[in-house]
Amino acid sequence: MELYNLTIEGARVAIDRGEISPVDLINAVFKRIETVEEKVKSYVTLTQGVALDRAKQAEDFKGEAKPLLHGIPVAVKDNICTEDIRTTCASKILKNFVPPYESTVTRRLKEHCFILPGKTNLDEFAMGSSTENSAFGYTRNPWDLERVPGGSSGGSAAAVAADECIAALGSDTGGSIRQPAAFCGVVGLKPTYGRVSRYGLVAFASSFDQIGPITKNVKDSAIMLNAISGHDIYDSTSANMDVPDFVSGLGQEIKGMKVGVPKEYFIEGLESEVEGSVKEAIKKLESLGAVPVEISLPHTEYAIAAYYILATSEASSNLSRYDGVRYGLRVTGDDLIDMYMKTREEGFGPEVKRRIILGTYSLSSGYYDAYYRKAQQVRTLIKQDFEKAFKSVDIIVTPTTPTTAFKAGEKTGNPLQMYLSDIFTISLNLSGVPGISIPCGFTSENLPVGLQIIGNHFDEESILKAAYAYEQATDWHKRKPDLI
Ligand code: GLN
Repeated sequence: MELYNLTIEGARVAIDRGEISPVDLINAVFKRIETVEEKVKSYVTLTQGVALDRAKQAEDFKGEAKPLLHGIPVAVKDNICTEDIRTTCASKILKNFVPPYESTVTRRLKEHCFILPGKTNLDEFAMGSSTENSAFGYTRNPWDLERVPGGSSGGSAAAVAADECIAALGSDTGGSIRQPAAFCGVVGLKPTYGRVSRYGLVAFASSFDQIGPITKNVKDSAIMLNAISGHDIYDSTSANMDVPDFVSGLGQEIKGMKVGVPKEYFIEGLESEVEGSVKEAIKKLESLGAVPVEISLPHTEYAIAAYYILATSEASSNLSRYDGVRYGLRVTGDDLIDMYMKTREEGFGPEVKRRIILGTYSLSSGYYDAYYRKAQQVRTLIKQDFEKAFKSVDIIVTPTTPTTAFKAGEKTGNPLQMYLSDIFTISLNLSGVPGISIPCGFTSENLPVGLQIIGNHFDEESILKAAYAYEQATDWHKRKPDLI
């Protein structure tokens, strides 16, 4: 095993025992990046100089108890603001944007002495499911370089899978942490809406967006969640409530745990090998003492339609700030309006434009009731589906995605096909509940399959507990792609 293969937990033990230093670790990670980045292209920006300085500072740490992420290289999705480090959202409009402030999550990671190796690639403004919508080239899936890593946090998921970092942060508006985690065979957690501050996360659809960890195993996910959770006065939607220790609940038995299996998630279009792996995983949970129960989430079929009305509406409003005056790119024009138009024409890619147009349309006075209000009503119904389900079960399990990673270019010409990639993840964002994707098998083509475990609001503990129990009983998470 190489140093870059380490998990957070493993690296911390080695650092604490003095077997390795933070500088050794970051050097090993950069050596790995040098070898595989050309193929995978996980990063938009590498920050080797800053990283090395931080690692040296970490070595001088004199206190008793070392902070949680002491010396750990954690990559950060490039839509999360990092002070004095370029944050592009993979968009031409923010190509040279250097934030003057730190997001709350990266501030917290800094307080825990993490090391930033770089900013990872994404679909422009997190809009997409394949990372092909990036203005800076696309990222490849480490398991098969002809395939996409998923999206929009494809850079973070690929970097974790390819061992180009020890862990990473992503953001999830409709599935962007869990879907790429499933495609890349790693662990991705979307916390409950409000659990983690969004301050400094460049807004896409504010009532859906949530930051979360992408890691090599479940324990690392719990460690990262401990580091980033909690109330923040800079985000009025962050929940003012106690945060449990997510690590200490791991290892408890899951005997008697009621596991809901929604019939609406085992439908036409679900690849048979994905279905097979997920059903095996449910049996495994049962063998560990959990009790599967068939449930119904009857409004699931409307989730994609409601999401694409609501998320695009919010996006059309959020993205109005890129006007050539306040941030980023400016293209001069004959007058003010002309300058706005030229800047936005030049700065945004086609998917972003499509969404701004769609969102503006559904918010316009003649269509608001027919589309936006209707979609909000559907959102409530979907939320109620979960509320009802969680009266009788502790967690819900589903496939994370209907298919495994698809080929690059396969869906770029058909946005509706692309949107369907999130059919199993989107309902969680509509209702705000947390979910994790963990590896639960491989297809005959050696592509990873993801199992999604869903919890009730603010009950990340149950999903982590079940995910950990499953992981301990299997070894899918130990497999590594063959990149060299
Ligand atoms: N793929 C979904 C979309 O394109 C979700 C994106 C996300 O979660 N950021 O909107």
